[in-house]
Amino acid sequence: MRTMKAMVYRGVGKILLEDVPRPTILEPTDAIVRVTLTAICGSDLHIYKGDFSLDDGTIIGHEFIGVVEEVGEHVTDFKPGDRVLVYPGFKCGVCEGCLKEVPFGCEKGGMFGGPNPRGSLHGGQAEYVRIPLAHKALCRIPDGMSDEDVMLATDMLPTGYFAAENGDIKPGDTVAVFGCGPVGLCAQICAQLFGPSKVFGVDMLDYRLKVAEQLGSIPINASKVDAPNRIRELTDGIGVNVAIEAIGTPATFYACLQSARLTSNISSVGIYSEPVELFMPILCVTNKRITMGLPYKLSEYVPKLLQLIAAGRINTRPIISHVLPLTEGERAYDMFDKKLDGAVKIVLKPGA
Ligand SMILES: [Zn+2]
Ligand SMILES: [Zn+2]
Repeated sequence: MRTMKAMVYRGVGKILLEDVPRPTILEPTDAIVRVTLTAICGSDLHIYKGDFSLDDGTIIGHEFIGVVEEVGEHVTDFKPGDRVLVYPGFKCGVCEGCLKEVPFGCEKGGMFGGPNPRGSLHGGQAEYVRIPLAHKALCRIPDGMSDEDVMLATDMLPTGYFAAENGDIKPGDTVAVFGCGPVGLCAQICAQLFGPSKVFGVDMLDYRLKVAEQLGSIPINASKVDAPNRIRELTDGIGVNVAIEAIGTPATFYACLQSARLTSNISSVGIYSEPVELFMPILCVTNKRITMGLPYKLSEYVPKLLQLIAAGRINTRPIISHVLPLTEGERAYDMFDKKLDGAVKIVLKPGA
């Protein structure tokens, strides 16, 4: 049996580099993708820390791109040699669960390297991945784009775009983004597409604020100043038109509300692990419109984001802080977890 290297979930705090069997085509709708670049996501870190678990032995990772190696006999849209981005999850689109839009209701769908109702599906932090329902899970990468150019379009960039789109930013608006991790930085990049007069990037880590500044944002270090006060000072005392929450804590959600002016939009894409209390008597008279959610229909976003990257309107490369060989995956998890060595987004290269 042919083997390959992969990052395998073995329990809390244990995502280990192992030699595992190389996947093969099991269904006529499958493809095998040879992974050329894969990223560690904040949600992989939640799995690493034990916030959600995977079946023991599952290969982790849902952000990956690569080259089609082999296709099943029913796969007609893709052929060996095609460069592809793989969506983090996929649905068949035709079963009862899909037609009724039941969350996680697809009989054949799933998320790569994530928890699934029908058992964990191997993910992309590996040399090869079996892609079920390949026609639903793959997106072709246009010619002339490097792996690093498109890496963040798998998950972080569509989430950042969704955050900016929900903020309903109008030309000349002021925008504050709380969080300068990969999603917050992508939200700052995407906010710029809508013509704001100012974008503020708020975080407590100077090295992440430097990246925000490089992307055109005005950095605010919330460990040194009261961020809502500072934002009001820099917006003629009234606050921003749009505040985006990209961390997921009650404190940062409240800071968004405090930074936003009368009649404003609060767009939240942070993943919360505790409840947030809202004081409705004030909210209802200040016209602060709150939206939240995540972009589930990625196939509506990713192709147009790839076009914007190709056109030079979006550049997420400054967010990639480290490109390491897959064989250094264990060290990469430790670095990302402890935010060592200026880690923002760490990507792994199989076969390097
Ligand atoms: Zn992700
Ligand atoms: Zn389905």
